[in-house]
This record gives sequence, C-alpha cells and structure tokens, in this order.
Amino acid sequence: MKNIVIFGAPGSGKGTQSDLMIEKYGFNHISTGDVLRSEIKNGTELGKTAKGFIDNGQLIPDELMIDILASVYDSFGKEHKGVIFDGFPRTIPQAEALKKMLAERGHKVAAMIELDVPEDELMTRLVKRGQESGRSDDNAETIKKRLDVYHNQTAPLIEWYKAEGIHHHINGLGELPRIFGDICSVIDAL
Ligand code: AMP
Repeated sequence: MKNIVIFGAPGSGKGTQSDLMIEKYGFNHISTGDVLRSEIKNGTELGKTAKGFIDNGQLIPDELMIDILASVYDSFGKEHKGVIFDGFPRTIPQAEALKKMLAERGHKVAAMIELDVPEDELMTRLVKRGQESGRSDDNAETIKKRLDVYHNQTAPLIEWYKAEGIHHHINGLGELPRIFGDICSVIDAL
C-alpha cells in the first residue's frame, strides 16, 4: 500500500498528475476540493458552510476537513493499493490528523510529493482554468488570496514533511510527461 500526498500550490498540477497516477497504479483518490464542490452542488449543510470559505479563497476549518477525510478514506476498504491525498493536508494540524488517522488503521503516508511551480506561472494557469471551467474561485482576486493562504498556512508543511523524512521535490514546470516520469521514479522506489 502506497499512500501518497500530492502537494503544491493551487494550479501546480496536482489534479492532472493524480489522474495519471490513478491510471498507472490503480490508486484511489481523495481530492478534498472535489468533495467540497460536490457537497455545494448537492446543496448539503456542509456545502453551504464550505461555499463561503471557498469563494473567499479561505480554508475550511480543520475539524470539518478531518472528519470528511476519515470517512472517504474508510470507504476504500482495508486492502487498497494506496490513496492519493490531493489538496489535503493544507495545514500542520491536518497533517498531524492525517498521520494519526492512518496510524490508527496501521497505515501511513509513504511519500509527500511536492510539485514546485513559480508564482507567475500559477497565476497564468489558474486564470486560464477559470476561463475554461468557470470555477468560481479561479478569478484574479480569489486566486491571489488562495496563493497567500498557500504561502502562510500550507507551505510550512514542506518543512514538516522533510522532518518526517518523506518529502520529495519535483520541478512542476515543463512538459507533462517529464513531470509524471519524475513522480513515477519516486513511487517506484517506495
Ligand atoms: P482545491 O480544489 O484543492 O484547490 O480546493 C478549493 C478550495 O476548497 C480551497 O481554496 C479551500 O477553500 C477548500 N479546501 C480544499 N481542500 C481543503 C483542505 N484540505 N482544508 C481546507 N480547505 C480546503
């Protein structure tokens, strides 16, 4: 079982690379952003709470996210090939909660893979994605807030995972096959 945290700023390519990993390795996938967007679409209580935070570029409170995560993880059963955590953890308390949740099940995160992309490129990609997908939080003002949140609350996880000894840095700028190849090298060596 290879549980992987795919990590990076908004627009760094986590979703795209997750799709390729799912296809190649048969992993399961938890995208907390996708979970929240589907809750919003279905008009649930959680969706109503989440919408305000998302449209404002803010993070949803940790307690809510941690509960969602454990229930989605358990839905994959006990003997899966591995789960890709995409968009989670985004804070140090979330990383600690993930470690604890997995340890309680006798599991662990095998690797944290950081996709490193320069800020101006992130901005270009996200504005383009907003025009194509109509995602409500992919507009210039909200993108700036999300990038600030990333730097202040999420980027400290790089040091946290280095201390855990499972951080892997990948240059996320360039051709998709090269980036995916770099990811596969990390996974294959686990
Ligand atoms: P994403 O699709 O991963 O870019 O997430 C979109 C938005 O959903 C974020 O800007 C947050 O408002 C919210 N979100 C997604 N994942 C998390 C998380 N792990 N913790 C808190 N908020 C989250």
